[in-house]
Amino acid sequence: MSATQQTLVLIKPDAVRRGLVGEILRRYEAKGLRPEALELRTIDAAFADRHYSEHVDKAWYPPLRDFVTSGPLVAMILSGDRAIEAVRSLNGATDGIAAAPGSIRGDFCLSNRENVVHASDSPESAAREIALWFGSDV
Ligand code: ADP
Ligand code: MG
Repeated sequence: MSATQQTLVLIKPDAVRRGLVGEILRRYEAKGLRPEALELRTIDAAFADRHYSEHVDKAWYPPLRDFVTSGPLVAMILSGDRAIEAVRSLNGATDGIAAAPGSIRGDFCLSNRENVVHASDSPESAAREIALWFGSDV
């Protein structure tokens, strides 16, 4: 199947602190994905709760909220052929230790919380997350 999609991607605060923005963006661009919106943002707890609405009741959510609000992150919309699947594949598994070497998480983290990147996991979540982060801009 071939279909141009948009997906919402975050380069999380750990990656911004560690100077990994350029390397991560390079990987997405090299794959053929293109930014349609891109912005450095610092979010508050209420916004984090909206972004992670499916996870707010989990035991591990409070430290995740502290982490994602701990400093600037890079929010972007990437577009391309099957972009949702393509970015999830480049990012790798949630847990950086389990993530395959060669994936972004597999190459750059040892954590299942501070795991460098976020990406929408379905067309429905991409639509919701793009509207949340970029509203009527796109
Ligand atoms: P993904 O980001 O791969 O879609 P999830 O949607 O399951 O993963 O979780 C959202 C985010 O919550 C993860 O990227 C990670 O930062 C954090 N997270 C997930 N599971 C755990 C966990 N067991 N302990 C701590 N943080 C977690
Ligand atoms: Mg997820």
